[in-house]
Amino acid sequence: MKKALVLGAGGFIGSHLVKKLKSENFWVRGVDLKHPDFSPTAADDFVIGDLRRQDVCESVLDGHFDEVYQLAADMGGAGYIFTGEHDADVMHNSAIINLNICHLCNIHKVGRVFYSSSACMYPAYNQEDPTNPKCSEDSAYPAAPDSEYGWEKLFSERLYLAYQRNYNLTVRVARFHNIFGVEGTWTGGKEKAPAAICRKVAECPEGGVIEIWGDGLQTRSFLYIDECVEGVLRFTRSDFSGPVNIGSEEMISINDFAKMVIDISGKSISIKNITGPTGVRGRNSDNALIQEKLGWAPSQPLVEGMKKTYAWITEQVKNTKA
Ligand code: NAD
Repeated sequence: MKKALVLGAGGFIGSHLVKKLKSENFWVRGVDLKHPDFSPTAADDFVIGDLRRQDVCESVLDGHFDEVYQLAADMGGAGYIFTGEHDADVMHNSAIINLNICHLCNIHKVGRVFYSSSACMYPAYNQEDPTNPKCSEDSAYPAAPDSEYGWEKLFSERLYLAYQRNYNLTVRVARFHNIFGVEGTWTGGKEKAPAAICRKVAECPEGGVIEIWGDGLQTRSFLYIDECVEGVLRFTRSDFSGPVNIGSEEMISINDFAKMVIDISGKSISIKNITGPTGVRGRNSDNALIQEKLGWAPSQPLVEGMKKTYAWITEQVKNTKA
């Protein structure tokens, strides 16, 4: 039986990834500060532990694993990452986890290690035009991420790739672009735009108004969780090390995105744009490289994933009120 280690297994993407690995008959150990928020973990062994601590990392990465997925990070949506209030924690906490994990993956010569970077590492100067952002993998340098979160991701990408170069550790580095879906954080300050907009619409009475941060003309693309997990597994088991984008190329303005959710709800709701943290003006995945290297790219339209996510968040809102 193959063994996988999922770090950050109590988080959104990690908990979905564990389920998928179990469906493939892996023995899975998950590690996180917390259990998954919305359903029991599917992992065979789930360790509550702080991966900033070297002794914790040593106890969970205690031998050979065929696949290691490093998803643990101190992160959240724009309200967490772009206000500047959490910069020191974001950089320190995530970097120390990656330093620990790289070192131990090499000591135990794991089969391969997947590292989840982010589109936030792309230079801000290529993302000022909301209609034409540039996020091809080769546009990463000269580096100029717009957040400390992005700088830490860039550092850690380089760290994993350096271990591959110097120690022959097999690493896979992917840059996620806005992953969303059911069982993702939807309230509390760390939720991201898709979940926040679904919650606002679900809570809004017929004929009401929802607030959207910024002028709403900023653009993004969003990828549904099932496609993300599929991409992660295909990429990890491929011969290509990356970095590679895992995202959707269906770019949409935030106001149009809000209108999509309002349409799904069937309610009559209007939008009020207010000042708030927004990040870069435009961002879209560029899937040419993943298409070329893997012969695969995600394909589901945004609206399909949003229908499932809106239905799930509506349930959560109802349960909270009950
Ligand atoms: P998440 O916050 O739901 O999951 C991260 C998990 O890491 C959390 O459960 C958290 O408790 C855990 N963690 C944090 N610090 C820890 C520590 N010291 N010890 C143990 N566990 C710790 O986030 P997610 O959306 O599942 O993202 C997973 C990874 O993908 C992260 O590295 C994130 O930066 C990256 N990413 C996500 C997106 C996205 O849109 N979701 C986009 C780009 C990159």
